[in-house]
Amino acid sequence: MAHLSVDIGGRPGVDCRGFCEYCYFKHVRDTPPFGCRYCPPFRKGCDYCSRSVREYYSGFKDLRDIADDVLARLQAIPDEVSRITISGGGDPSCYPRFRDLIELLASMEAPLHIGYTSGKGFDDPGIADFLVESGLAEISFTVFSVRPELRKRYMHDPTPEASLAVLERLCGEIDVYAACVVLPGVNDGPVLEETCRWLEERGAKGIIMMRFANRTDQGLILGNAPVIPGHPVQEVAGFRDMVTALSRKFRMKVSGTPLWDPQIGSPFALAAEPDLVAKLPRLERRASVITGRIAAPFIESILSQCGKGAQVVPVEKEIACLITIDDLRSLDPGALEPLVIIPGRAFVYDREAELVLSRDGVPRTVMRGPETLTADAETSMGMERGQVLALEMEAFADLVRLINRYGSA
Ligand code: SF4
Repeated sequence: MAHLSVDIGGRPGVDCRGFCEYCYFKHVRDTPPFGCRYCPPFRKGCDYCSRSVREYYSGFKDLRDIADDVLARLQAIPDEVSRITISGGGDPSCYPRFRDLIELLASMEAPLHIGYTSGKGFDDPGIADFLVESGLAEISFTVFSVRPELRKRYMHDPTPEASLAVLERLCGEIDVYAACVVLPGVNDGPVLEETCRWLEERGAKGIIMMRFANRTDQGLILGNAPVIPGHPVQEVAGFRDMVTALSRKFRMKVSGTPLWDPQIGSPFALAAEPDLVAKLPRLERRASVITGRIAAPFIESILSQCGKGAQVVPVEKEIACLITIDDLRSLDPGALEPLVIIPGRAFVYDREAELVLSRDGVPRTVMRGPETLTADAETSMGMERGQVLALEMEAFADLVRLINRYGSA
């Protein structure tokens, strides 16, 4: 059974009726490419780290081009299509020929999934029935708040009542996962509880809270900090506690990113499972493992249970996947092992990392660790605890094997 992903193109902020106040793409600047895991060895910068990372599309694709693309891909798929996901840089609800697009995809008679929408493009509540009748089975819907005036003010939704009516109808019919960037002082506290209650009563499967980030060390690496000058941010521990408290109040799934999924105990659910960690290979060699501030204590806890030899080194950046060369420059190379492992997805050009981390005259080898060591809340939203643990076991086993193979004795 094949899964078909349909990219409709579009630009964040432009092809979604203007920037939401909190949108990270609002101030994205034309920064030079960072380098990444896809760059060829001889060149810093590839399509991924120079274009895709900033969701740099030229606009929505023409429906005819989408149809041609879908047709060509269908011919290459030997199996029946089991699920169709609509994705893109713009917001599907704002796609100019949205009904035609849905009709086209519905004709394939596979369940449809809208990977992300703010709902800002839904002006007619009747679109909900059309979507259900067309086979929409799952949607991720950014709610922000169920108070129309807040959607209008902060998302610039011109018809918030209609968008919420669509959300309400979909909650009762299909799998709805709501998303909410939590802006302290605006949609948190009682307003957030009201949003959760509204969603639960109407049948949403879950809500994922996204902590508002406003600083480079919180992950705004595209020259886009601050998103809202002077707006307060929640520190990680406070955010995690808020997610925990809300998850206890509601039956639907409540999780948060960058931390955490209380139902599963992730990211790094493995840290609380010593019996499973005991089944990982033992550490036999030494290496420095660089990671972000949030992941460091978890990785340290798991690797230290595997034996001695792994030195976990946090940088200032909170999110490991968003580490750049500036984070590596702030480390003291003299304190590092001859083998340095950086996060698999770090936005770093490997050769540049080697130069920076060997600038004390001692040559060091830089290697990338597994693509991911855990599942963040967006990934774990549709997963069982066992699946997350299996993913983490495999990733940590790969990491230990990498250290044992290339590390120093
Ligand atoms: S809908 Fe999403 S992509 Fe568009 S401006 Fe709002 S947050 Fe940004």
